[in-house]
Amino acid sequence: MSIKELTCIGCPIGCALTVDFDDNKKVVLSVSGNNCKIGERYAHKELTNPTRIVTSSIKVIDGELAMVSVKTKEDIPKDKIFDIMKEIHETKVKAPISIGDVLIHNVAGTNVDIVATKNIDKSEYMKFCKTYKAV
Ligand code: SF4
Repeated sequence: MSIKELTCIGCPIGCALTVDFDDNKKVVLSVSGNNCKIGERYAHKELTNPTRIVTSSIKVIDGELAMVSVKTKEDIPKDKIFDIMKEIHETKVKAPISIGDVLIHNVAGTNVDIVATKNIDKSEYMKFCKTYKAV
C-alpha cells in the first residue's frame, strides 16, 4: 500500500488529490482532496490505466511551412509516448495537407491514428512549377 499525490486535470481548479493505492493488486483504495467525482475517476484512471493525447509536429515536403502540427486522434497508453514520438519524428508528409488528414495510421501499433491539426498548402514555388508545366 502507498500514498500517491496527484493534481486533478479535470478543470482549472486543479484539486490536490491524495490516493491510497494498493501497489500489489494495482487498485485504488480511496481518493481524497477532490471536489467532485471527476477527480475520483481521474485518480483511478491515472493509477491503473494512464492515457494521454500526444501533440507534436511532422516535417512537410513542398509545403508553405516546413512543419505541420499533429495530434493523436484518441488517447494512447502513456507508456507508448516515446515510441509514438520516434515514429512522428521519422515521418515526412507531402503538401497539401488538410486538418483531419490521417498522416500516420496505427501509430506505434496502438490502433490510433495521427491526424493533422493545421492546413498546409503547397509552397509558392511548387504552385509556380505546376502552373508553368500546365502552360
Ligand atoms: S476534482 Fe473536480 S473540481 Fe477538483 S480539479 Fe478535478 S474536476 Fe475540478
